[in-house]
Parts: sequence; C-alpha cells; structure tokens
Amino acid sequence: MAVFDRLGSEYEQIVFGHDPTSGLRTIIAVYSTARGPALGGTRMWAYETEDEALTDALRLGKAMAYKAACANLPLGGGKAVIIGDARRDKTEALLRAYGRQVERLGGTYITTADVGTTVKDLDVISQTTRFVTGTSHGSGDPSPVTAHGVWHGMRAVAEAAFGEASLEGRHVVVQGVGKVGSGVARRLKAEGARVTVADIDPDAARALAEEIDAEIVSPSEALEVPCDVLSPCALGPVVTEKKLDSFKCVAIAGAANNQLAHPSLARALSDAGILYAPDYVINAGGLINVEDELHGYDSARAHRKAEAIADTLREIFRMADADHVTPAEAADRLAESRIRGGTSA
Ligand code: NAD
Repeated sequence: MAVFDRLGSEYEQIVFGHDPTSGLRTIIAVYSTARGPALGGTRMWAYETEDEALTDALRLGKAMAYKAACANLPLGGGKAVIIGDARRDKTEALLRAYGRQVERLGGTYITTADVGTTVKDLDVISQTTRFVTGTSHGSGDPSPVTAHGVWHGMRAVAEAAFGEASLEGRHVVVQGVGKVGSGVARRLKAEGARVTVADIDPDAARALAEEIDAEIVSPSEALEVPCDVLSPCALGPVVTEKKLDSFKCVAIAGAANNQLAHPSLARALSDAGILYAPDYVINAGGLINVEDELHGYDSARAHRKAEAIADTLREIFRMADADHVTPAEAADRLAESRIRGGTSA
C-alpha cells in the first residue's frame, strides 16, 4: 500500500497504532490542524482489508475538517478507525491501548464516539488519555443538539425555498425517528408544521406519531410523499440515481450522514428544482456539542451555537446563487477557503 501517494498534497499525519497484547490495530488520520485540534470520532469496524480501513480513515478525517470549518469551530479535522468487530474484539485492554495511542499525539487529535464505539467505551478510553470528549462525565449524547441544529437549519431552508422561515403549515416528512429524527419531529410539530413520520421500527413510528399527532407512512413510501421538506434522519444514502425521479418534495434537509449516493447527485437535485441542505452542514450540532465540552460543557450554550447553522446555510445558499454552483459545492468551497485561511472567525 503506497500510503504517501494516497495522501496527495492533503493530510498532515497518519498514525498506525499497534498493540499486540490487546490486538489493537488503529489508524488515526489527521487531515488538518490549521484551525485547531483535529476532533473526530473513533470508528470500530471489521474492515476486510487494511487498505479499506485506511481509505475510510482518510475519507472520514477530511469530512470532519470540512464539517468543523463550515460550522466555524476552532477545530481541524481527523478521524480514527480501529480494525475489528466491535461486538467480538472490543475489550477494555484494547480501548486502554487505543487511549495511549491518542495520548501520544499530545492533543493534535481528540477523539469521541462513532459507529462501533459508545459513551461507555469513551469512559474506558479516558483512563489513558485526556484527549477524549463525549464521555459520561462530559457532554454525553449529542442528539438533542443535533436535532436543534437541524430544525434551525430547516428554517433557513424554508426561507430560501418559500420566502419565509416559519414551518407553520408546511408539510415535513421525517424519515427515521430515532434519537435525532424524533427531536426534529417534535420541534416541527410544536411550531405548527404538518408532520409525517416513517421508521423501519413500526413501534418507534407509532409511539411518536401518537405522542405528537403525526401521520405515518411506510419506509418504502417515505421518499415519495408529496411534501414541502423531506428530512432524512435514518441511515445510508437517500438520494440515488434510481430514486431521483420519485421525489415529490421542494427541499431536502435532514440529519443523516452521506445522504447523496454520489456527489454528482447534488447537481441532479438542483436541476430537478429541489433545494438540498448539505448534510454535513445541517447535522453539525453533534460536533458543536462535543467542541463545547473543550470549554467546560454548557448545554444551553451548545444549543445556542447550533442555531448558527441557519446562518451558515443562508451564506451557502447565497454563495450557490452567486457562483452558479450547487449548495453542496458552495459548502465545500466555504470549508476549503476557511481551512486554507487557517484561524476560525
Ligand atoms: P438512531 O439510530 O437513533 O435513529 C435512526 C432511526 O432510523 C432508527 O429509529 C431506525 O429504526 C431508523 N431507520 C433506519 N433505516 C431506516 C429506513 N430505511 N427508513 C426509515 N427509518 C429507518 O440514529 P440517530 O442518532 O438519530 O442518527 C440519525 C442519523 O443522523 C444517522 O445517519 C447519523 O449518522 C446522523 N447523525 C446523527 C448525529 C447525532 O448526534 N446522533 C449527529 C450527526 C449525524
């Protein structure tokens, strides 16, 4: 594996960490520290090859730098992967060995949870490193702040799409009513929106629908319901080549990561007249929440900071209009200019 060739002119530091006693094999990818320490989660996954693990660490580390820059946080970007099956291979010894690897980087990289790691794991990791956020004695579950940010972001989307920020009377379909989607749906309903929910867990959909008086559709119908805003808050790509023609929404604004199966679909959405709020911009509340912990966690302050996601989206939509690019391209440009510029505002 020719590692340096893969890095191009990007990425500051890639660390391969190994602990034969616990079986730890980790790759920590620091994309940039130009704006501050690289804060990003630790993903534990049973990668089939080391190459696949490196590719994931590089991709995710860069994405964190873009997310932090758009959110205007004083952070760089990085991510770590641990190669292994989280259910089978995760032990306290392995997590402690991983914490020692993070500690050796002296704060260049700060970790938190991701797929395959939990708040409980972060507590173990914190036994051997100071550079960890989101522990049970820290900011904990970021979902409420993520939901708050998505809702505020959706108001900026409404302003751009319908000329007014209020979602009162608008019809919003929330796909996936887990920790974030349920919070988004509750806020929308409180504002007077008409809400339709869908979840592959029928009990979750039913319980929320009863609680907030929402309508329910099946997961297979969710993307095709005529509505003002479709809010993907489940998992995996939503916008695919195949589904493109079936959307009947004016805008897409939700928490899910990687909503576009391919970056080129941002252009296809624009051409179809659908306004897309770039996922990594509108779902930055989770990162805003853990960053706040670096200053002594204050939940009210984290919620307030997440409201600025609306201003960021307004700026992105303005840039997209002015430069004749999609909002996704405008977001990338904003992130790149801020990373090149170094310091946060
Ligand atoms: P979650 O696991 O609590 O909820 C996801 C929900 O989606 C579950 O109820 C699940 O049953 C449902 N679901 C899965 N596939 C579905 C499908 N095809 N159709 C309908 N429902 C489906 O997760 P979460 O923490 O609420 O996160 C939701 C999304 O937001 C994820 O993509 C996550 O990566 C992203 N995100 C979350 C945060 C956060 O703070 N939790 C931050 C940024 C991004």
